[in-house]
Amino acid sequence: MNARDAIVVLNAGSSSLKFSVFADRGTELDLVARGQAEALHTAPRFVVRDAGGGLLAEDTWSAEGRNAHEQAIERLVAFTREHLAGYRLAGVGHRVVHGGPAYAQPVRVTPAIVDALEKFVPLAPLHQPHNLAPIRALLQRLPELPQVACFDTAFHRTQPPLAQAFALPREITERGVLRYGFHGLSYEYIASVLPAHDKRAAAGRTIALHLGNGASLCALEGGRSIATTLGFTALDGLPMGTRCGNLDPGVVLYLIDELGMDTRAVEKLLYQQSGLLGVSGISSDMRTLEASEDPAARFAIELFAYRIGRELGSLAAALGGLDAIVFTAGIGEHSRALRERVGRAAHWLGVTLDADANAAARGAARISSAASRVAAWVIPTNEELMIARHTHALLMRTAPKEAT
Ligand code: ADP
Repeated sequence: MNARDAIVVLNAGSSSLKFSVFADRGTELDLVARGQAEALHTAPRFVVRDAGGGLLAEDTWSAEGRNAHEQAIERLVAFTREHLAGYRLAGVGHRVVHGGPAYAQPVRVTPAIVDALEKFVPLAPLHQPHNLAPIRALLQRLPELPQVACFDTAFHRTQPPLAQAFALPREITERGVLRYGFHGLSYEYIASVLPAHDKRAAAGRTIALHLGNGASLCALEGGRSIATTLGFTALDGLPMGTRCGNLDPGVVLYLIDELGMDTRAVEKLLYQQSGLLGVSGISSDMRTLEASEDPAARFAIELFAYRIGRELGSLAAALGGLDAIVFTAGIGEHSRALRERVGRAAHWLGVTLDADANAAARGAARISSAASRVAAWVIPTNEELMIARHTHALLMRTAPKEAT
């Protein structure tokens, strides 16, 4: 690649298109712009800022008429032409939630690969279709532009078969009903930077806690995923902003048989009306809950921390011991109070937090006491950079040699 090549990273959801632009500066990739097209179904708004937060572009348009996602892609293409004139757009990296059993690595997409990824839509109906839409749009509009799909499931393909298995009949398992796990790009990023912070943790047994609107834990052994709390879909494990987490499957049967709910109503309940929002009845947002005096808000926070504590024990068992824990994502990086609760719940595992270090943590910081047998860290995640790195590496490997 040339010194002024740029990579665009896309993270497309149901109502928003988030993107970042990274420039290749030879040894590392630098963020040059970040933006999003949001409220695509109601009042679309396109905003791009530079790395320092300065406004680069802004636009609004009507949600009526043509497909809002396509319009967002058009704005993005126009933005790259106008504002990145000094760069050559080398490729686009996409966050794709599900790579199914087949994809353990990022892949350069072709129309045939998009068709293959379409087969995983039933495994992640709320994310996969939106992730694939901009890939198709760009394949049509700019067929020569290299595109790379990076999967949230890929990092967990190293889990041993036991950790991936449900105790279901073999013919169901063979249809791909497995514990895949998600947030893999976040965990991969954490595993990639951990050696610079804590060599013992990087080489040993570490549990990473990705606590954002979506939340999960991952057991890392020497930097590889050996178990994780999310499973077949993004519903399992911890309660999340609006998702229920771990649930006795008998509850689903009860909802259908006794409450007469149909599949879509159950889906809505489990994905959008449960978790912190459902339990508190107030909000899915940790900041709002922490600011509330309402006992229901407190109970929701306590349930979240309690479930994290139990899952920590389960993953520590899978690892056969514990050397470190790492907090990341919105809540993990910013909620001192939640980290304190989790620290208490993990005390029996050898975690002792340093209250002052926990209160002062900004960016990457060690928050365990000097005497703590298990190290505790806060490390900000960077899924976009992970996608950019994968895209860059894959394009370097597959790019035709340039004449000198
Ligand atoms: P997503 O999974 O959508 O990427 P984030 O990783 O941004 O989500 O995490 C969003 C969560 O982080 C929200 O619950 C938000 O309240 C919480 N959060 C962000 N900042 C703080 C803070 N200062 N204190 C407590 N919670 C915070």
